[in-house]
Amino acid sequence: MSNTSSFDVIVIGAGPAGLSLARSLADTSLKIAIVDPAPADVLKNPPADGREIALTHQSKELLESMGAWDAVPEGEIFKLRSAKVVDGTSPFELHFATPETARGKPTDTLGYLISNHHIRQSIYSQVEHQPNITWFTEQKVQSVYGKSEDAGVTLANGQKLTARLVVAADSRFSTTRQQMGIPVDMHDFGRTVITFRIEHTASNDNTAFECFHYGRTLAILPLTEHLSSAVITIDTQLAHTVEDLDDAAQAQDIAQRVNGQLGDVKVVSQQYRYPLVGTHARRFYSTRFALVGDAAVGMHPVTAHGFNLGLNSTMILSDLIKSAVRQNRDIGAPTLLQQYDRKHQLKTRPIYHGTNFVVKLFTNETPPAKLLRTAIIRASNMLSPVKKLISHQLTG
Ligand SMILES: Cc1cc2nc3c(=O)[nH]c(=O)nc-3n(C[C@H](O)[C@H](O)[C@H](O)COP(=O)(O)OP(=O)(O)OC[C@H]3O[C@@H](n4cnc5c(N)ncnc54)[C@H](O)[C@@H]3O)c2cc1C
Repeated sequence: MSNTSSFDVIVIGAGPAGLSLARSLADTSLKIAIVDPAPADVLKNPPADGREIALTHQSKELLESMGAWDAVPEGEIFKLRSAKVVDGTSPFELHFATPETARGKPTDTLGYLISNHHIRQSIYSQVEHQPNITWFTEQKVQSVYGKSEDAGVTLANGQKLTARLVVAADSRFSTTRQQMGIPVDMHDFGRTVITFRIEHTASNDNTAFECFHYGRTLAILPLTEHLSSAVITIDTQLAHTVEDLDDAAQAQDIAQRVNGQLGDVKVVSQQYRYPLVGTHARRFYSTRFALVGDAAVGMHPVTAHGFNLGLNSTMILSDLIKSAVRQNRDIGAPTLLQQYDRKHQLKTRPIYHGTNFVVKLFTNETPPAKLLRTAIIRASNMLSPVKKLISHQLTG
């Protein structure tokens, strides 16, 4: 018996990007395969991973269109009313208030925060029983190929799948991107993010707070009024100085660093750590092969663009695929993939390089860099077009 199965689209990776792409193709007759090493019950109920994902208004609309927004458990969508950026002990701060409108509609929020595991869980709930999907869980793609006539993958158990298009959503360290010979710009920031939840006696005013202390960055992401996520970014060599603190010392340290504005602080979750590596593929396609999500662009989290860009990539690609299906054209044609590449790169390149510039500037401790930071924060605050531009970027 042949161990080859044919599909129209193979999606490698059932993270939020791979699942979103599959969901966007629900209303087509395309036969889709999804491969992921995780068991189905873990995909259905992923464990908390410490990531609180800031989402733009555009991402909200995309998740709504998939039915995933309404599937987020009740009380787990948090509104972000404003954001403040502070540079060390400098008296100047950059403040972003809730705009009056977002995407042409009145709004009462700058953006939204949802835990990553709830995003994954809610998108999965919308694709779990999608009739045009065949699941290959507890399976890893071992190798991939793309030829002018077809593309395909071999799974770790030796099973072969062929398709007209293979889409890789297998993380920023995508091995299939490498196998397809797609070059990638990679930047190891030499820093690590440590994140955990805190409760505090004073209100966070639904305001995100990002403070660039010398040597480390502290972000406070507001969830409920007295519950926030603390996100510390620190030189990887010094990560142990944060990780080794017991909960009481950790809480006291955070309380001091925010100048007592949160009142008494208590640590209420375990710590999670993420070494920071940014990646940007030079192109997002090869023969009958496309990259979406972090496999295309893996962002530094400071500007909270990663999954927002990932969703955008799945929207662009699925629109092009659906339009090809309607017109009876090849869904893996080079022209379609080049079009996808052009559209998505136009958005990702400036954001990726802009974010890396901000990170370098705000982690540079030399006096000229400190002066430039203060000047940028003052100028951005005074120049309303600059603030509007950043707010527009935040609201999507
Ligand atoms: C600390 C932190 C904070 C963040 N905050 C924000 C934020 O505020 N806003 C925002 O928009 N983004 C944020 N992000 C980014 C966001 O988390 C990512 O962009 C998003 O999770 C990436 O989703 P993905 O599906 O592309 O990749 P992943 O979530 O990495 O999923 C990849 C999937 O591929 C599977 N896989 C890997 N290899 C194979 C293989 N060979 N075969 C089959 N399957 C495979 C894996 O099992 C996994 O399920 C943050 C990230 C971090 C680390």
